[in-house]
Amino acid sequence: MKSKFQVVMKSILAAAAVTLFAGATEGTVIHADTVKNQTYDRIMKTDRMNWGVKGDTKLMGLMNIKTGKLEGFDVDMAKEITKRINPKAKVEYTQITSGTRVPMLLNGNIDAIIATMSITPDRQKVVDFSQSYFNAGQSILVKKSSKYHNVKQLNTPKARVLAVQGSTSIDEIKDFAPKAKVVGLQDYATALTALKAGQGDALTTDNGILYGMAAGSKTLEVRGGTFTKEPYGVAMQKQNPKLVKAVNKAIDDIKSDGTYAKMAKKWFGSVKGMNWKELAKE
Ligand code: GLU
Repeated sequence: MKSKFQVVMKSILAAAAVTLFAGATEGTVIHADTVKNQTYDRIMKTDRMNWGVKGDTKLMGLMNIKTGKLEGFDVDMAKEITKRINPKAKVEYTQITSGTRVPMLLNGNIDAIIATMSITPDRQKVVDFSQSYFNAGQSILVKKSSKYHNVKQLNTPKARVLAVQGSTSIDEIKDFAPKAKVVGLQDYATALTALKAGQGDALTTDNGILYGMAAGSKTLEVRGGTFTKEPYGVAMQKQNPKLVKAVNKAIDDIKSDGTYAKMAKKWFGSVKGMNWKELAKE
């Protein structure tokens, strides 16, 4: 039996851990103090899996205000992966942003993230990733009337570039156009509104996300090709090797049984300018 001291110490440590995670931001090196395979065991026991998905990213994860439902490629992937891990499990979604997704995962608010999230060495210090399921790359979105045609031209103090906090895009643009003024916004909906309102000369993030924005607009276009590689992965808390294995197996199955190609065609097949076969390629 545990002594009273052990019980008290455990709750103090747990409270400290919650406080730490609540303050965690992307890039902070904190290892979740979980019991091994806790998330996986809970998904199997409760028959529920809660995913962090985007609500501001058309084609990938978007809140459809007409239906009140989240929709997109990542949302469908979450459903298909869950079905293969635990066929009885109910799929639940929580809206996250690029800035909130890692703290939400480490806090235990969500079981996994599937939200246009690139696998990077920095993030791998904090979370574990599945294999990559999508090959995006960073690009720029501008007004068709813009004089900027590629990222190199944005490398001037005159250029204002919009990006989203917590994304790899905001760090990368500082490398590729160090002279530009970079404005970090809360989410992609805000960044798109700012671009349309002329508050920035370009919006930078992954090409797939930008094509989703351009698809809904007559005045915007994606330009200049990609200048980084952004392989998307499912992020999970560390200490969950069973979950990582199950997600990887699910992705393999989704690809080999034709589900993946069907979903990619459904979401990206008719998007002008987007070579979805390239993005979805291994
Ligand atoms: N894929 C990039 C990232 O993981 C940009 C997209 C996003 O903000 O989610 O940060």
